[in-house]
Amino acid sequence: MFDKTGVATPEMVEKVLPSIERRQKGPYAVFECFQQIPCNPCSTACAFGAVAAFEDINHIPSVDHESCTGCGRCVSRCPGLAIFIVDETYSDTEATIKIPYELVPLPAEGQVVDAIDRAGEVVGKARVIKVQNSKALNKTNVITIAVPKEQAQIVRHIGLEG
Ligand code: SF4
Ligand code: SF4
Repeated sequence: MFDKTGVATPEMVEKVLPSIERRQKGPYAVFECFQQIPCNPCSTACAFGAVAAFEDINHIPSVDHESCTGCGRCVSRCPGLAIFIVDETYSDTEATIKIPYELVPLPAEGQVVDAIDRAGEVVGKARVIKVQNSKALNKTNVITIAVPKEQAQIVRHIGLEG
């Protein structure tokens, strides 16, 4: 499926998630980088040593989730828009997801938007919690959204039509 559609399967995503115990401790990065490409900014962006130095620039990233603080610095540095920060401890009912976002216009904080999955399908609604769009982010804005907790590993994009 991935080869034809470019859409990661749930099994592929499961393999890049931290342990259940780590997921319950706070925000963590999900690296949905599944293809070997000559790219490594994620490793140099991380100040916590959570992304191993690349022995070969074509390798896919190796992430130590115990060292990852969920700071989000790597999100805007990834040219593949492949890194998300998920916080399943946000509230009893909601998780937050930081997503890279390069479209305009930007959403407003507090706005309710369409929640979109990896395949581009609208799967519900999301609430915009924070919009980060400083020059330091290298033109890749970072949008934090809140979604129902059960959609923490499903929603990966937003649409402003809603
Ligand atoms: S979220 Fe922060 S600590 Fe985690 S991998 Fe990215 S830059 Fe490193
Ligand atoms: S910067 Fe992004 S696309 Fe490049 S290797 Fe890291 S996760 Fe993959």
